[in-house]
Amino acid sequence: MITLEELDSKLFETLSNSSNRIYFYYASMKENTSIWSQSAVDYFGLPGRVLSPTSIWDDKVHPDDLAGYSQSFVDIINHVTPYHNCEYRIKNAEGEYVWVNCHGYMNYDEDGNPDFFAGFVTNMGTIMKIDAVTGLWTNYGFRNDVTYMLDKHISGAAMQIDITNFKRINSRYGYDFGDVVMHMLGQKINSIPGKKAVYRMDGAQFAVLIEGGKDEVLEFKKKIEEKISEFSINGVNLYIEFSSGATVFPEDGQFIDQIQSNLFYALSNAKQTSTNELVFYSKDLFEQRNRIIRLTECLRRSIENNFDGFRIVFQPIMDKKTGKLHSAEALLRWSSSEFEGVGPMDFIPILEETRGIVPVGKWIIDRAFAYVADWNKRNCKNKLKHININFSYVQFTDTSLKDYVVSKLDEYGLSHDTLVAELTESCRVEFSDKLSQLLQEYRDEGITIALDDFGTGYASLSMLKDMPADIVKLDHTMTKTITDREKDRNLVEFIIAYCNKMDIDVCTEGVETDAIRDVVSGAGTQYLQGYYYDKPLEAEEFFKKYIDE
Ligand code: C2E
Ligand code: CA
Ligand code: CA
Repeated sequence: MITLEELDSKLFETLSNSSNRIYFYYASMKENTSIWSQSAVDYFGLPGRVLSPTSIWDDKVHPDDLAGYSQSFVDIINHVTPYHNCEYRIKNAEGEYVWVNCHGYMNYDEDGNPDFFAGFVTNMGTIMKIDAVTGLWTNYGFRNDVTYMLDKHISGAAMQIDITNFKRINSRYGYDFGDVVMHMLGQKINSIPGKKAVYRMDGAQFAVLIEGGKDEVLEFKKKIEEKISEFSINGVNLYIEFSSGATVFPEDGQFIDQIQSNLFYALSNAKQTSTNELVFYSKDLFEQRNRIIRLTECLRRSIENNFDGFRIVFQPIMDKKTGKLHSAEALLRWSSSEFEGVGPMDFIPILEETRGIVPVGKWIIDRAFAYVADWNKRNCKNKLKHININFSYVQFTDTSLKDYVVSKLDEYGLSHDTLVAELTESCRVEFSDKLSQLLQEYRDEGITIALDDFGTGYASLSMLKDMPADIVKLDHTMTKTITDREKDRNLVEFIIAYCNKMDIDVCTEGVETDAIRDVVSGAGTQYLQGYYYDKPLEAEEFFKKYIDE
């Protein structure tokens, strides 16, 4: 007759062999010894089936997950619960972390001390290979397949696409609908011939592995466009926007990590361009990216170092009626010994992205007001009545900005209408009722609001009726061609007339010649700015030339 003890041990052995992704264990707490199924020994590279002490297992838990894991045992020892149910990452024999789900139950002795603990560990790494929403392989499969191709010296290309408007779809129609969209997208891409496999990557991203080179990738990208740009689900019409990056191997990478970092560079570059062109990884791209990283770091240090390297230059804005100075636009400059010739078009976007523009913006406000107050105090012939300062959208997200601006105007003894706040293009991209309300609050304080870069990007005339603005600044790209092309001139004349009808003043930028000045003056512009008058000048030069003349 088989004894109960033998049956117990057979049960453990049989269960242990029943699955290769569930591992069983039991432990005697008093002897600080645990026994593991052979599959656990093999997969996790344990020194043997009997572990003493159990800390051999604990040492493999990912440091970030250790707190949750340990807390579960604290709860068991303190009798909060006899159950252990915990998800964490643990290192396997190959040294990579896999997600596991660990279940256990504690038996206590008569005195309530932990006595016997048993349970099982489920390997979720294997489950996560397939994405539940799309049914496609995940990043895990992508890495395996690329590694296989690299090992076998099969050349190929990998492409990664990011559905850039997916967030909007999710927030407009809800997450369940978003899942359906994701599923459809996966199916559509997967139905395109000419690829090895399609993978669902993190977030709203897909990867495609192609046995071929750049031509095949470009061909495939075109087909994706045809398939997914526009389709409908349950009567909802969807317009899908995506960015794409690609890399070829083994030319541009011999290891999977290199391939993935190439894809990252290529895709982030593609996202920065406004076109939806596919970007291939290249050495240039890598260097460009590296330069941006170094530049970002250098700018951060400048800010930390009391804005060392930043300075403001001033460009005159003329009043058409009087022909005299109306205001000055404060324009930011930055110089460093490490980088040469970095203009605002290069460093402002970085400051916006890193939110460095928030402190720098406050610094500009303080410095520019200080200049104006100082100039006006000096015994000069003219006073500077207005100062135009640029504001990016990121700055408006700082709720303390308005109070800061007002307190600085007061501190320097400047009347509130001294400040003309120019909203750069980023503000209009993010235009909302909330922003509109915020701008009105600035106006209520007596501050003038100007819409900058009109005629570029997202600017539209219809926006003018919703946006509380006093001045529109016509971008220099619009004025450049008005003396050569009649159509361009008509457009500029029309915009100026429309603004005037809406009671909005116009400041025309890019006045480089007297011919341009004549056209826009005739059309009814109120203010003029451009190289015809002056380039942005260093502070002292501006003072001497325009204020102390
Ligand atoms: P913006 O606000 O449109 O500034 C006008 C830009 O046009 C300036 O370039 C100026 O030098 C240039 N410009 C002036 N007159 C003419 C002309 O007759 N012809 C041509 N072709 N260009 C002219 P800059 O100084 O390089 O500034 C570039 C942009 O950087 C600015 O465009 C603005 O969007 C941003 N920026 C500059 N300073 C600041 C700042 O302090 N804060 C923020 N948020 N953005 C700033
Ligand atoms: Ca401006
Ligand atoms: Ca402008």
